[in-house]
Amino acid sequence: MRYLANVTTLEYDVEKCTGCGRCVEVCPHGVFVMEEKRARITDRDRCMECGACSLNCEYGAISVDSGVGCAAAIITGMLTGGEPVCGCDGGGSSSSCC
Ligand code: SF4
Ligand code: SF4
Repeated sequence: MRYLANVTTLEYDVEKCTGCGRCVEVCPHGVFVMEEKRARITDRDRCMECGACSLNCEYGAISVDSGVGCAAAIITGMLTGGEPVCGCDGGGSSSSCC
């Protein structure tokens, strides 16, 4: 699944990558692949900003503001045709996505 185009905060510094492969293992959306002993991003728009890759990269090669994308809200917005609303600001929404 792809999310909104060009909005993910995912950043990757190939110079810091040691090729350990953890990001490939933990990413639920296959955003990373290994190529020539380094990670490579296949499609940034598949990133739902869960933060797993950044948390598991011991070499600081990946950063992402997990939760900023409010993936659940984006999905709901796509399904309903409305704007993404996450309710994470304590505004009384019963849905909590971040
Ligand atoms: S987890 Fe970090 S060091 Fe390991 S392959 Fe991914 S980007 Fe490279
Ligand atoms: S933040 Fe989550 S979905 Fe995005 S690249 Fe990292 S592991 Fe994959």
